Amino acid sequence: MAWVPALKPEGSSAIGGKTAARGTSNILALAACGALVTAIAELALQAGLKVVLGKYTHLGLHVVWMTPVANLFVFGAIGLLFAAVNRLRRSPALFPAAAGVFAVLFVLSILFNARGIHWAAVAALAVGAAVQASRLATLHPVAIMTLVRRITVPLAVLLLALTAATLGRRWLLDGRSVAALESPQPGAPNILLLILDTVRARSLGLYGRGQPTSPRLERLTSQGVVFDLALSPSPWTLPSHATMFTGRWPHENRADWGTPLSSGASTLAEMLSGAGYATAGFAANVAYCSRESGLAQGFVHYEDFVISPGRILDSSSLVRGALRNRQFRKTIGFFELPGRKRAPGMHRRLLRWLGGHEDRPWFAFVNYYDAHAPYLPQAPFDELLGPRRSGEPALIEEVKIGSMTPLSVPAEREAYEESVAYLDHHVGVLLDSLEQRGALRNTVVIVTSDHGEEFSEHGQMGHGSTLFLEVLHVPLIFAGTNRISSGLRVSQPVSLRDLAATVMELTGSSQPGLSGHSLAGILAGDTSAKVSRAFSSLGEMRSLLDDEFHYLTDPTGSEHLYAFRRDPQEQRNLAQSPEFRSHVARLRISADSIVSETERKTEQSIR
Ligand SMILES: [Zn+2]
Repeated sequence: MAWVPALKPEGSSAIGGKTAARGTSNILALAACGALVTAIAELALQAGLKVVLGKYTHLGLHVVWMTPVANLFVFGAIGLLFAAVNRLRRSPALFPAAAGVFAVLFVLSILFNARGIHWAAVAALAVGAAVQASRLATLHPVAIMTLVRRITVPLAVLLLALTAATLGRRWLLDGRSVAALESPQPGAPNILLLILDTVRARSLGLYGRGQPTSPRLERLTSQGVVFDLALSPSPWTLPSHATMFTGRWPHENRADWGTPLSSGASTLAEMLSGAGYATAGFAANVAYCSRESGLAQGFVHYEDFVISPGRILDSSSLVRGALRNRQFRKTIGFFELPGRKRAPGMHRRLLRWLGGHEDRPWFAFVNYYDAHAPYLPQAPFDELLGPRRSGEPALIEEVKIGSMTPLSVPAEREAYEESVAYLDHHVGVLLDSLEQRGALRNTVVIVTSDHGEEFSEHGQMGHGSTLFLEVLHVPLIFAGTNRISSGLRVSQPVSLRDLAATVMELTGSSQPGLSGHSLAGILAGDTSAKVSRAFSSLGEMRSLLDDEFHYLTDPTGSEHLYAFRRDPQEQRNLAQSPEFRSHVARLRISADSIVSETERKTEQSIR
């Protein structure tokens, strides 16, 4: 680095060399070198976790340059602090002290990636590293600065080369995919698939909430079809999206908390790309809709992690580790997710992409995260259902573990529903923009959600742990083009599993081997068309809805049966009543047969 001053030549006095090595600029050089060494260690660790252990990293491609930049920010801020003190009052103790602090940052950066280590062990290791680093810096400052000067520039070059190789490879692959597209069928409609992550049907005015949480979706339904009982196949993001994209049940896809969707699965984006569509995905749920989830396969253009100050800072293990600490977040008053993508920013990027793809039909998928925990409604929607809340909002970890007090649950539900209203508004703004551009003339608009959310209706918070209707019943609207009826409401239960087959039929590109049934007949007004069973699962837990009853098993394995049309909140479990035993048995056998049939087919296809 140019600003690392040359050390005194060999032969100068040891005391003079040591004094020069302890100068202000050397503290900054040490900070820069420490930041880069730490970044390389972090990146190597993440690569090891992903390649060797097959773990999700929940980090995007840009992490190769964002991690060093974030570390330079953190180490640099501390280095500047030491440098400022050194200018005010020169002390030989400052250089070793800075070396000790940087050693602590290094150790924490590594250990924050390993869950389950007791904080006392982390503290002991950090203190030990600090003592050793300070001792070395006291005894051998010249040797340390010589090493710093030798390795800092090569490390920076290495990181730049890594960045160029990673991003360059992605750019080349995307370019090749565009060039390989087939000619599309003349007149094929565009497909706009909007997935409102975590939005449950019962919180929408459209589904009877009794509050103005969905005026724009209600307006959209005048030009389309509303499914009153659309069920998500899974109560959480990845398996639900994977089923929507493939038509295969969650137990067939086997995409899970630690397993991405298999590259062997045939996805909606792949099928539409094969039919000549320009395809793009814009995912705000970067935890389970990112490229590493497998959901990006088939998309020519896919945006998960985008460049933002919050995302850059979150690329540092130090920042991520600190923000995992609830007390730290409460102390600094930061409750938001760093780098959370909001609907308006997603729409700007979608519209920009559409501007360059008007020469062929397009398929655009948008996954929104605005209604996901932590529930932080944006103004003016933060006062839609009542005065602005003065208390602290729950953190995402508190929602996940259900640690909110009973008193805070209604406030959190209100904040959630205001977030839903904010999202509804911006979906309306997007549709207005598309209308003004004339882009809706031949476009099928599909609005749905991957799952709902629980607010202690059955003792749980969040989603991904039970199969009650608050997490499975989702909105489903199809609108646009003359193949879709206007103002129709469909009362029979349907599954989001049928989304892929429906889209392929609407585009005139039906795929013979595609699982699921097309809802295109229903959309055209034929309500007798065959549909998939409204089945859902989570591990060994099962849920099946027919016209009258909802059968499910809970995390303890106990069976439940609800007459959901009379009891939509599912408060009266009929499973133990003798008069309902036959219904329990019938639905249990049906649910089990869905699993066994598809497992048999999977085994046959493997043989
Ligand atoms: Zn989700």
